[in-house]
Amino acid sequence: MMCSRCNKKAVIELKYSGEFLCKSCFLELFEKRVRRTIRVNKLLKNTDKTAVALSGGKDSAVVLYILNELSKKAPRSELIAITIDQGIERLQKSGLNAAKSLCKKLGVEHYIYSFWEEFGTTLDEIVEGSKKLENPAPACSYCGVLRRKLLNEKARELGVTKIATGHNLDDEIQTAMMNFIRGDLDRIARMGPLVGVIKDKNFIPRIKPLRECPENEVELYARLRELKFQSVRCPYSEDAFRRTVREVVNTIEERHPGSKFQILKSTDRLIKTLRKKRFGKIGKCKICGNPTSGEICKFCEIKGELGLDDYL
Ligand code: ZN
Ligand code: ZN
Repeated sequence: MMCSRCNKKAVIELKYSGEFLCKSCFLELFEKRVRRTIRVNKLLKNTDKTAVALSGGKDSAVVLYILNELSKKAPRSELIAITIDQGIERLQKSGLNAAKSLCKKLGVEHYIYSFWEEFGTTLDEIVEGSKKLENPAPACSYCGVLRRKLLNEKARELGVTKIATGHNLDDEIQTAMMNFIRGDLDRIARMGPLVGVIKDKNFIPRIKPLRECPENEVELYARLRELKFQSVRCPYSEDAFRRTVREVVNTIEERHPGSKFQILKSTDRLIKTLRKKRFGKIGKCKICGNPTSGEICKFCEIKGELGLDDYL
């Protein structure tokens, strides 16, 4: 097939717009969309020091590439990458190496912190240990709490003003649908392109520049730009509920192209309404004082349970 815009050889069909695009037209469309997400939602200021949470996967690699291009036009801005090494034996090396080589190629300063050094344990050990608990949480929830904690603390030490994550359209609407099915309106109210914007200097706002980019397009972009990324999935990532929701959403999109964008739009309208109704309120943890939606933050909750050192 030929590109609908310039008649060169097409590399992708966009069913939702009825177009075929060649490499250069696709790259342009993709970058324009990310820039619009940033502009419309006011995700970045030209004086921001941004840290990309770089995992080694395709999503954060694309965020780093695009923000690096943008930062060249904003001389007062700064860009760094932070990688958290959770200590997952079957994953580790390929992800870390991909992250390192990408930063080297782009000339971006790269900081690596590990669960081992900061908490005195690894995710593998935590998962093993949690099997003895009466009600163990899924590995991803332990990992998420610790990773966010570490990322936030280190970013703060480095003077970072925004943390950019690789969440794409599919991640975002799967999460929205899961929260909707569970009836967790508070959680939906806390979603969005810019999260953690509360008056608390201990908490660094997180931005999601790829929030309007379908996952398959993020992957194609990474390949066309020849960005190094690892495609090994995390051995702990198989959440059965999320898998079901992903399949359902993909089926809807296949039969009714454009539905994914529509679900995101509806989610954003819902977020606005819920926030007006004071859903998703954030307070302070009674133990450590960090922002939390409950009485005690998730980190303090699991710290004792897992017997973590707290060097932070
Ligand atoms: Zn073209
Ligand atoms: Zn706490």
